[in-house]
Amino acid sequence: MKIVKQICELKNCISEARNAKKNIGLVPTMGALHAGHISLVERCVAENDLTVVSVFVNPTQFNDKSDLAAYPRTPEQDAAMLEKAGCDIVFMPEVEEMYPEPDTRQFSFGALEQVMEGPYRPGHFNGVAQIVSKLFYAVEPDRAYFGEKDFQQVAIIREMVKQLQLPLQIVSCPIVREADGLAMSSRNQRLNAEERKKSVLISKILLESRTFAQSNNVAETKAFVEENIGKEDIFRLDYYEIVDGYTLQPISDWNQTEYAVGCIAVFCGPVRLIDNIIYKS
Ligand code: AMP
Repeated sequence: MKIVKQICELKNCISEARNAKKNIGLVPTMGALHAGHISLVERCVAENDLTVVSVFVNPTQFNDKSDLAAYPRTPEQDAAMLEKAGCDIVFMPEVEEMYPEPDTRQFSFGALEQVMEGPYRPGHFNGVAQIVSKLFYAVEPDRAYFGEKDFQQVAIIREMVKQLQLPLQIVSCPIVREADGLAMSSRNQRLNAEERKKSVLISKILLESRTFAQSNNVAETKAFVEENIGKEDIFRLDYYEIVDGYTLQPISDWNQTEYAVGCIAVFCGPVRLIDNIIYKS
């Protein structure tokens, strides 16, 4: 496994594989890797001849600068996990390499970015699109892998690929959870013992709401989640939305779509966690 820090070096490493008509897969990450990330890497390794994993904490997608400062960084451990997972190239650039000058590009994703994370994290998806498009230009992958944990992000990336007419396939992968159900996240490391204990309730309530939804309407199911989250002082709910999984627009009737997903963002103490559950697909 090669570890490279510069785009020109990265392009050199990849060009040989490309000339040999090999398939190239990319897994973009911000590091502090866990089994959720590794599931993407393993799928990429299984489906492509060459796997590139980027590890880069992208400053332009952090609307909260204290979140950026607190974001965990474990490069040595990441490299060891990636080697074990069969990754071929790790791209670990410095900020100056990705942003030699400020990226002034403004993306527009319309209704997709006006819901859920959009209003709570102004500029977040623009920053995601900036870095992911730069990675797509640098690697020119045939396939790129993203986790469904960041449900809205996958929809935004698919839309970006359409807008930029990039010749690559976006592969979305299911959420990997801790044994107790908590969706794996690099941010989980920041939970103290009490917060970690309570955090399991998020996935538990979502799961219970799926049973509840079988005999209740959308508004009642939304209220069920909001009320149960509200019972715990440790939680502060940003939003719970039940949406059409394609358009991300809130639905008011289960019959409105064949793909209904509930998406939550909630602070557990100081740590903002997201999760989602599929009601219908
Ligand atoms: P991040 O490092 O948080 O930017 O995540 C990098 C990629 O891993 C994104 O596509 C995430 O959606 C994905 N990912 C993060 N956590 C999980 C998880 N628990 N299960 C599946 N994919 C995940």
